[in-house]
Amino acid sequence: MDEKKTILIIEDELNIRDLIETFLSKNGFVTVGVESAELGLKKIPTLKPSLILLDIQLPNMDGLEACRRIRLDPRAKNIPIILVSVQSSDIHKIIGLESGADDFVSKPFNPAELLARVNAVLRRTKPASGKKSEILLEDPLFSLDMENHVALLKGKPIELTPKEFTLLTLFIKETGNVLSRDVISTQIWERENLESSRTIDVHIGRLRKKLGKFGPAIETVGKVGYRYTPSL
Ligand code: CA
Repeated sequence: MDEKKTILIIEDELNIRDLIETFLSKNGFVTVGVESAELGLKKIPTLKPSLILLDIQLPNMDGLEACRRIRLDPRAKNIPIILVSVQSSDIHKIIGLESGADDFVSKPFNPAELLARVNAVLRRTKPASGKKSEILLEDPLFSLDMENHVALLKGKPIELTPKEFTLLTLFIKETGNVLSRDVISTQIWERENLESSRTIDVHIGRLRKKLGKFGPAIETVGKVGYRYTPSL
């Protein structure tokens, strides 16, 4: 049997925290709830959660700041994060994703929807298992260790968020093919058309930046989408 996955819930409202904990426990997760970002950050190194549900509106340090700090911590940067917030405007959503979060859930949410998001994020960020051939994905520029989520660019490690890693994997697997924003949205977020083009552009912009002089290998193809060509 699979070992149960631990989810850290950082939420200051007791009733919401209890609701999430009860629901996720019933669905096979181990849950640990804390009421502040400070307590959450302290717990992460020893708890090593599989995923973090992070409320944005928290006392003292807010969820976005906590998210940035987690992404800067080498021990925690690969842990998937789902931000939770009452504010659901697109702008807010983009800020959330720019902070390095993997997904976003608006309050009030339906527990079943939250569970679906949790499972989708865990599935996306799960290391490839089984076949040895799938562990290393190599092309002229990159070598991706699918199990440990380590990306090497011309032999040098580059720091990618889980979402950027998934995005790069998609580009390499589809080398030379034009990927429309719809396809990228479906493949990366598993929800067609739900992510705005702007959100996708933001993610691709950040990924390109991290590739430095190799950034242009991901070209914009008119209004259609993007294409990755390592020889560029
Ligand atoms: Ca709150």
